[in-house]
Amino acid sequence: METSNEFEKVRQSFGKVKEDINYLNSNIEQIKAQKADRMTTDQIFLEMAKLRNIIIELSLKDTKEAKCETMGIVGNTDSKKVHYENCPFAKRITKEHKTSFESVQDALNHKYSKCSCIL
Ligand SMILES: [Zn+2]
Repeated sequence: METSNEFEKVRQSFGKVKEDINYLNSNIEQIKAQKADRMTTDQIFLEMAKLRNIIIELSLKDTKEAKCETMGIVGNTDSKKVHYENCPFAKRITKEHKTSFESVQDALNHKYSKCSCIL
């Protein structure tokens, strides 16, 4: 059955995500312990955004459509930087300077450079 296959896929993906989250949680603990006093809130949120993007990459490898929907790509027409929409810097782009792209490659083709939130 088509439907139960899809269901099984999603179930497996969530299983993987759970493992990844456990792994990343220990990373976050390390980041907090080692760097929290030296990091700004922006840097911490940037690290968290990166980790979240890794989870999404890993869990949605097979489901490209869902990935596009989840990973909005936004550009700053002023700084010519491209970000994932969950990046703290992306959230600060003003309406007049915000633009969106189909993909990171699309942004690069428009002479945008990657923020460090994009691996
Ligand atoms: Zn960014």
